[in-house]
Amino acid sequence: MKYYFTLNTKNKFETINLGSFIAKHIKQGDIILLTGDLGAGKTTFTQGVADGLGIHERVISPTFNILKCYFNKVLNLYHIDAYRLEENKNDIGLEEFIEGDGVCLIEWPKFISHLIPEDTISIKITNIGEDNRKFEFESDSDIYEDIFKMLGEYYG
Ligand code: ADP
Ligand code: MG
Repeated sequence: MKYYFTLNTKNKFETINLGSFIAKHIKQGDIILLTGDLGAGKTTFTQGVADGLGIHERVISPTFNILKCYFNKVLNLYHIDAYRLEENKNDIGLEEFIEGDGVCLIEWPKFISHLIPEDTISIKITNIGEDNRKFEFESDSDIYEDIFKMLGEYYG
């Protein structure tokens, strides 16, 4: 089945709250693909997910590291930013984090498309003016059904 849900946030705090909300409904092995231009809010959303998991570290863009790991009792969070990898297909060992013992959020997944498994949820963020951002959630996988149900209940 195809799942789709869209909503807008009006400022970065609403985006952080949205990330925290999603954090309550994710489980080990989940893979969240974050697309959208630079400054759209991918890292801000990831900060919200970290907050929601009880990770008390500031989430910074891992652009210069490619991968940042946040180890945590509830669920480990792996944050990948593939921007600098571009089309470089060299194996740098990201696989073990993508379907690993935690949840993985990936910015610029198109640059590591060969490493992305089938069952993912993608979130496309669009700057629609000033501090307004459009969020489009999409998935073909039933393992994320719960998230769409909860989004509909809470944000519908
Ligand atoms: P990305 O990771 O997509 O490049 P960031 O999350 O690093 O983007 O940056 C988003 C920027 O936009 C931040 O400076 C943030 O404060 C600002 N911003 C303004 N409005 C919003 C919003 N509604 N949601 C998320 N970020 C917002
Ligand atoms: Mg970013």
